[in-house]
Amino acid sequence: MSVNYAAGLSPYADKGVCGLPESFDGPEELDAKVETLAKMIKESTFLVVHSGAGISTSAGIPDFRGPKGVWTLEEKGEMPHFDTTFEDARPTFTHMALLGLHRAGYLKYLISQNVDGLHVRSGFPRDHLSELHGNMFTEECEKCGRQFVREKVIGIMGLKPTGRYCEFVRSRGLRACRGKLISTILDWEDALPDADLNKAEDASRRADLALTLGTSMQIKPSGDLPLLTKRKGGKLVIVNLQPTKHDKHAHLRINGYVDEVMKRLMELLGVAIPKWDGPTVCEISAATEPKREVKPETDAVPDTEKKGTEKKIKRERKRSAAVLTKGDDKNSSVSMKRERDPSPGKN
Ligand SMILES: [Zn+2]
Repeated sequence: MSVNYAAGLSPYADKGVCGLPESFDGPEELDAKVETLAKMIKESTFLVVHSGAGISTSAGIPDFRGPKGVWTLEEKGEMPHFDTTFEDARPTFTHMALLGLHRAGYLKYLISQNVDGLHVRSGFPRDHLSELHGNMFTEECEKCGRQFVREKVIGIMGLKPTGRYCEFVRSRGLRACRGKLISTILDWEDALPDADLNKAEDASRRADLALTLGTSMQIKPSGDLPLLTKRKGGKLVIVNLQPTKHDKHAHLRINGYVDEVMKRLMELLGVAIPKWDGPTVCEISAATEPKREVKPETDAVPDTEKKGTEKKIKRERKRSAAVLTKGDDKNSSVSMKRERDPSPGKN
């Protein structure tokens, strides 16, 4: 493991509830629940999926609060076990199924807390994806906001300079931007990226069905976004082995491996699973505009000739100041909150 994500973050005491026991629905119950989910998806007009670390464990990347999670083991003074590097990790069945669901028109927007880059590398269109906690493979220009998705992990955490500079040339004859490139990975006290968070909130409000996969929803504000859907009259379905913070809000609660649930779901919906041909970055969904796919940029100097990769993702430069709100009880744990969000009753 060349880059240890957890070790790159600042020490932080309150990591939420870790190591809760997992539970499993029996085969018949699971089948019946996935049939209900399939029906709900068919009837939905705007499905949003929220993904967490639990969808990448079958790729060999440990989660955080599961029985073998990074923070669970840290509490015991143990190190997490990686079966892969981030570069070698392959998108899981669930990652590819989500791409299939999007292409089939079911999945309208994907919100992820994962930093492993697997959604982007699976080819999921970036204009329909919010990566709320950053991406190990992506660096961003501090000056113009342009993002560069690399083939290798950036290796720097906490929005710090990567040592490279933006080579983006706005138009022929002008000088390159030369802004400092910074990591997109959030540290505990960093604010979420405005553009990604705004899109995620808009989609969550618009959704009539929120499906959460492999997240215990303990991190704020990401973990609370599915509640926006419910507040607007939409439904919430939770797939997770451990209890989650919002189980009581769920219309349907499925205790099963996400890959198993998605496999059965795809069969019921009759949606094909796209084949993965190695890391591919898709900037724009074919559902809205002609699809543009490019390979990740291999060198440190961005290729300004690649029109397909240019500034489709116009990110707002400003990151609002971070306000870290610690939970006021042991159930509301880790918060990464933005300043303009009121946080009544929090210190
Ligand atoms: Zn720039």
